[in-house]
Amino acid sequence: MYHRVTDKPGGTDDRTPAQFRAELERLASENYVPITAAEYVSGKIDIPAGTHPVVLTFDDSSPSQLTLDAMGTPQPNTAVGILLDVSKKHPGFRPVATFYVIRDMFGKFTPEERAQVLGWLRDNGFDIGNHTRDHLNLLGKSEKEVTEQIAAGQKLISDLDKKVQVHTLALPYGNQPRDKQWALHGSANGVRYDYQGVFLAGYTPAPSPFTKEFNPVGIPRIRSMDKKGDCVKFCSTAWLDELKAHPDERYTSDGNPTTVAFPKFKAPFVAKTFTTNALPY
Ligand SMILES: [Zn+2]
Repeated sequence: MYHRVTDKPGGTDDRTPAQFRAELERLASENYVPITAAEYVSGKIDIPAGTHPVVLTFDDSSPSQLTLDAMGTPQPNTAVGILLDVSKKHPGFRPVATFYVIRDMFGKFTPEERAQVLGWLRDNGFDIGNHTRDHLNLLGKSEKEVTEQIAAGQKLISDLDKKVQVHTLALPYGNQPRDKQWALHGSANGVRYDYQGVFLAGYTPAPSPFTKEFNPVGIPRIRSMDKKGDCVKFCSTAWLDELKAHPDERYTSDGNPTTVAFPKFKAPFVAKTFTTNALPY
């Protein structure tokens, strides 16, 4: 989970361009391959055998994530610019990510400029998700407030670009509404939303979408940060170290998106709902 990528980190969620680049380089060198949140929740993990999926998500649609120049090319020091560059140096490190947008819409004010940015993301294989329109804390809110805010976020996106399909939502501050299902399905003011996954803001790796542990109403994410302060154990550097030390806990692709291969020993944890072919070994 990334927020801003900036030379002047303000909060505990920001990363510098150098830190962001270093983390992507580490992911690439440890055989992680990016997939989108939409691919993850639908179990469409189409990456080479032996590699591990990682979902890069960006919250709050800040200009530090994507700013296009006058010809529609991403500025090199934005998150997208850096991701494209790392991907060029590491063929196979797919340049894809999911952007959870709010009304700030990458710092653009006119509908035309906003449509340019969303259109660029869609045309280039990036995934766009809902993060509510006003970044409302949904904790303790009524069903009406929750559904109105999520529907407004959905409308913000579809009014700008009808072709964008929104598959997932990230909860502002990671806070779930009183009834967790309200974040997944609902309708307000003539706008209906039906998502396949709702993402939290902490603090463990997400389970394989093919296990019983996978729960679409509350999918964990990991904050990008070094091992310090409250990130000694539960942020990205700590988790990457942990998964490197225990490689059997990673999801490792069998290279075939239509099959799910797993050690027989893990069979009791396999979810019954997915339609792909199970291949216990
Ligand atoms: Zn946010």
